[in-house]
Amino acid sequence: MVKFIQWLMPVNIKDRKMEMPVINQELLDLLRCPVCVKEKKGELEFYQDSWLICTNCDRKYPVWEEIPIMLLDEGDKWQATRKEELPIPPPKPN
Ligand SMILES: [Zn+2]
Repeated sequence: MVKFIQWLMPVNIKDRKMEMPVINQELLDLLRCPVCVKEKKGELEFYQDSWLICTNCDRKYPVWEEIPIMLLDEGDKWQATRKEELPIPPPKPN
């Protein structure tokens, strides 16, 4: 699973984007919160086409230019922010 996420994130996504939407139901079914997936389900809610919110720990991962940014730093940064207050679209990840 972790390998899959790492494969998903890097390079070449711009090219893939031309061919198909990066976020679709199939992908959502596969993506999990990297923190929770080890012990719980870590299922993600796709919110406002811009965020993936972990249903276990409430970490929030931005979807930036249709790329899910499944990084711990990002998830931590937005964990305490209420989803209604999340910026849409998300700011560019560092
Ligand atoms: Zn989580």
